[in-house]
Amino acid sequence: MREEMGEKSMTLKFKANILKKFVNNEGLFHLKLDRTYFYPDGAGGQLGDRGTINGKRVLGVIKQGDEILHILAEDVKNKEVLCEIDLERRFDVSQQHTGQHILSTVFQKKFNAHTLSFHMSEEYSTIDLDTIYLTKEIAKEVEMKCFEYIIAAKDVKIYFVDKSKVSSMPFRKIPQNLPAKVRVVEITGVDLSLCGGTHVKNTAEVGLIKILKWEKVKGKNTRVYFLCGNRAIKDYQLKNSILYNTSNMLSIGIKDVFEKVKREHEELMATFKMMRRLKRELVSYIVDELYANAIVKDGDRYILRQFKDAEMMRYVAAELVKKYDVVFFLGTTNGKPSLMLGKGDKAKYDVLSYAMNWKERLALRGGGKRNIITLLFEEKGSFESMLGDIKQNIMEVKDV
Ligand SMILES: [Zn+2]
Repeated sequence: MREEMGEKSMTLKFKANILKKFVNNEGLFHLKLDRTYFYPDGAGGQLGDRGTINGKRVLGVIKQGDEILHILAEDVKNKEVLCEIDLERRFDVSQQHTGQHILSTVFQKKFNAHTLSFHMSEEYSTIDLDTIYLTKEIAKEVEMKCFEYIIAAKDVKIYFVDKSKVSSMPFRKIPQNLPAKVRVVEITGVDLSLCGGTHVKNTAEVGLIKILKWEKVKGKNTRVYFLCGNRAIKDYQLKNSILYNTSNMLSIGIKDVFEKVKREHEELMATFKMMRRLKRELVSYIVDELYANAIVKDGDRYILRQFKDAEMMRYVAAELVKKYDVVFFLGTTNGKPSLMLGKGDKAKYDVLSYAMNWKERLALRGGGKRNIITLLFEEKGSFESMLGDIKQNIMEVKDV
């Protein structure tokens, strides 16, 4: 593969013969060809090529040992096939990969931060640096330096050298277990790397390198998320539109959006907090009212009530158990229906066993702590039938 990806790395259309073909247990066809220019997924941290074989879509390209297998959902009948690599995807991947070389070399030259690993996904790419010291200022400086290299339109050259020459050349990083001939990717005056991946021909083709964010990993490294080229432009378009829509909605300038949203978010949180406090205060009145209107039967007091607000129901259940020796059935159909059944310590009726019987009978989710059991219903019908049983057989009322 490394040899094949040499000066012919821009071969996008070629004929080949199928040497081996098998279907895996997911029904996907795996093809081995006598020659291929498809780059495999994950090699060197980058994404693989996509395209077609005899017009059938290539869903993935994997390297197993020395073999490169092309994965297709449909069978290809002929032995000789025409392969076409998707240039748009190859270019996108090459932009990200070349951008990574530039980014890694700038981090190393300016801040002595070495790249430990590189990973590319469909959405973004990351490098792990051997430092935890990364600030907004450093990130901005790195982006500007990368941009300098991009607009300088430096050539990206690919060639092979003997393994024995490697130690005398100023490579950014030298991996172990090198083959006899190693593939060099040289960005003139910028970076010298050993790499088997796909790259653009000139730094200008990278277009833009944008750092998205970073996070600490393994306690001593930093993972930097970034986008290059078309991905960076698309990201800018998306974020620009989100920001403009938000600023129009709030009728303020873009620069003030963050402060305004932050302030309104804080106010909202304070309102939620106040509402919660008011609910708690209201609970003691509701509980007293429920107790006063409870149905008295066989020495116990029974309460049945439905709530619009599930949080309020939970507060009431907790307060009832604490304050009164009553048997209660509280329900809500706001969202998924649920019932809370409980009793005070001295209430005689074993409402908890009653709840557990229904839980088993209707295969309900739910559980309890101390004297309260909560039952969760998947549909309204079973909720209604249990409620009907409570009304008819326990409360002996027509409707509450
Ligand atoms: Zn590379």
